[in-house]
Amino acid sequence: MILSGKNLSDRIKAGLAEKVRGYADAYGRRPCLAVILVGEDPGSLIYVRNKERACTEVGIRNITLRFPEDVEQSVLSEEISRLNSDGEVDGILVQLPLPAHIDKNVIISAIRKDKDVDGFHPLNVAALWQKAPCMLPCTPKGIMRLLEEAGVDPKGKRAVVIGRSNIVGLPVSKLLLDANATVTICHTRTADLPSITRQADIIICAAGRAGLLTGDMVPEGAVVIDVGMNRNAEGKLCGDVDFESVSRKAAYVTPVPGGVGPMTIACLMENTVEAFLRHVG
Ligand code: NAD
Repeated sequence: MILSGKNLSDRIKAGLAEKVRGYADAYGRRPCLAVILVGEDPGSLIYVRNKERACTEVGIRNITLRFPEDVEQSVLSEEISRLNSDGEVDGILVQLPLPAHIDKNVIISAIRKDKDVDGFHPLNVAALWQKAPCMLPCTPKGIMRLLEEAGVDPKGKRAVVIGRSNIVGLPVSKLLLDANATVTICHTRTADLPSITRQADIIICAAGRAGLLTGDMVPEGAVVIDVGMNRNAEGKLCGDVDFESVSRKAAYVTPVPGGVGPMTIACLMENTVEAFLRHVG
């Protein structure tokens, strides 16, 4: 079965929009998300546009601040500091990747923890690993919501995560552990990846390699979540999963596009509304 992130994200956004409608009267303002975009990276331009569109759907005020590729780091830091102290801004998101001359860690750490709607601030990362209240990173949060939607309780299940990045692989592994799955994290140095995936009940594929996961690597009845966002030879968006062969084996598989991508944005909207509610009350 195809596990649609598009349908679920539409429902999440519609639910949020209904709540947000009453906020202007109740609190005197709407939630607000500020997005910082540096340069003209084509992927980033698309992501930022999709985030703006989602804000409009939900009723979140959106400010996109655009800077040229050669912007100085100090200019970004000053802008973040201004947004940190702006009482009308609830969420601050810096669109990644940043140009090489900018230290991403310095910029992310400059965001106030309670406005870090991406969940990348070191204090939010630490809170996640300490099981303390935190802003959850959007993609891992969206993946867990997709599993819930499929009625899959990770408790006692063997989950295999392919990828160990700070933004997807590691945090989703932690969320799966917290949900009592037995988690194996695989990466480029993993020996004999197919022998590991063949034992999985849940496979989260977040490698950024088109066609990495094929049907022969997937046991009958597994749940497969495809996080990858790649371009194939024709320039078309595709995931890490060979959808054709994997969908013949898996009980559930997410499509690309229309899977994890829309869920990431819906969870960003949710994080922004949660930040707003903490700020107003
Ligand atoms: P990354 O490059 O930081 O990390 C990729 C990880 O995959 C690494 O840990 C690497 O060891 C592992 N890997 C790469 N090739 C492998 C292979 N052949 N076998 C086993 N492991 C391998 O990437 P990332 O930021 O974690 O993103 C991963 C993918 O997910 C990318 O395609 C990215 O565009 C996509 N992504 C999608 C969303 C979304 O909302 N849909 C969000 C974030 C990232």
